[in-house]
Amino acid sequence: MFAARRREIHDMNSKWMIELWRAGGLLLTSLIIGWFLGHPLQFLLLGTGAYLAWHVFNLVRLERWLRYGEKSDPPSSTGLWRDVFSEIYRLEMRGRKQQRKLARTLNRFEEAAAALPDGIVVLSAHGIIEWFNAAAGEMLGLRSPQDIGQRIANLLRHPDFIALLAAGGQHGAIELPSPVAGEIMLTAQIVPYGREQHLLVTRDITRVRHLEQVRRDFVANVSHELRTPLTVLSGYLETLNESQEECPKPWVRSLQLMRQQAERMQRLVNDLLMLSRLELDNKAPNQTLVAVPDMLAAIVQDARALSGERKHRIHLDATPGLRLCGNHDELRSAFSNLVYNAVQYTPAGGDIHVRWFSDGRGIHLQVEDTGEGIAPQHIPRLTERFYRVDSARSRESGGTGLGLAIVKHVLTRHGAQLRIASELGKGSTFTCDFPPGADTRPSNA
Ligand code: ADP
Repeated sequence: MFAARRREIHDMNSKWMIELWRAGGLLLTSLIIGWFLGHPLQFLLLGTGAYLAWHVFNLVRLERWLRYGEKSDPPSSTGLWRDVFSEIYRLEMRGRKQQRKLARTLNRFEEAAAALPDGIVVLSAHGIIEWFNAAAGEMLGLRSPQDIGQRIANLLRHPDFIALLAAGGQHGAIELPSPVAGEIMLTAQIVPYGREQHLLVTRDITRVRHLEQVRRDFVANVSHELRTPLTVLSGYLETLNESQEECPKPWVRSLQLMRQQAERMQRLVNDLLMLSRLELDNKAPNQTLVAVPDMLAAIVQDARALSGERKHRIHLDATPGLRLCGNHDELRSAFSNLVYNAVQYTPAGGDIHVRWFSDGRGIHLQVEDTGEGIAPQHIPRLTERFYRVDSARSRESGGTGLGLAIVKHVLTRHGAQLRIASELGKGSTFTCDFPPGADTRPSNA
């Protein structure tokens, strides 16, 4: 490469030398002819003029060619000008080739973006529509070219979308009904890119939502249908258990086991029904100011009864008068699940601390135990339905595997979050973090 460049410089230098010789030769010839004819200076001037005229002539041709000659070949010339013309022509050809390549690449990208099943809208810094693909047009009811150059906020007026736009997409994705047809559900996400530009990405999730609804209805219906036969079965088993003396001896143990299992199934059905109810919408209904310290006192009393012979030391430390705006039954279910779990998974005689307090970051319920603890790889999955660290152990203790899933749902509906910290063999701490102000106003979750 360096050798080629050096050769190029060398060629150029020799061309300049030839041009200098040519100019020198012309002027010398003019001077000699003028000398013989007795007018050396006039002939020297004439030679210089002719040389200049040749350059001006070529400059004019160059200007014309650049201005009007677009795709034509360069004008033919000699000497240095031939090199100038061919060099410009070469650069021009290279530029055109690059332009064609760029246009092809751009076309390919545009075709790929246009064919995407997701809606894509390119927005300028001020939220003005610059381009959108066919899917976005269908989902959002955008028309091309009429809506190009319009503000997206004028065409999509859903309040959640306006908030998402104002936040520059920092709130993640939102769900909204399509402005074209209310039954079509979309997710919308804003992705910043380039220089203050944004991509609005939309996806049709109607089918997914429909399938989720079918699944929810199915679970709710099955649980509901199982409830009545189970109640009847449990009732009879209870009666049989009460009159054990009249039963043949070998049946007694079987009847006890049947009753235990029937109770377990009832708990399972109740938990499934509760989860179905919680999934109906993402905000808790009937929110009132709940006297949490009183509620916790009752839960702790029940937990002591549950602990029974195992004699756990259960301590309650609740800030008096610190209430919480929420649904009483849902909160009781979530808090009791955490406290009963602490009893279930802490060896006899262990300590359990239940704390209810507020600080600068919000209001918190904390259940700390000195139990068996949980290995780190299980922690992120604990709130999944039926996820248990030790299935056999959980079933034995009467667990349904749905407790923490219920806790998570209840908290989400109250705008709160669950934090889990645990160390194997040392114990676990489950903390529910409610946002500041949750003691005075309902959550907006
Ligand atoms: P389960 O009905 O099995 O208790 P949960 O959803 O309440 O179901 O809890 C899920 C799993 O999390 C439990 O099976 C148990 O392994 C683990 N777990 C929950 N709470 C504790 C705790 N305080 N200490 C140790 N492990 C716990």
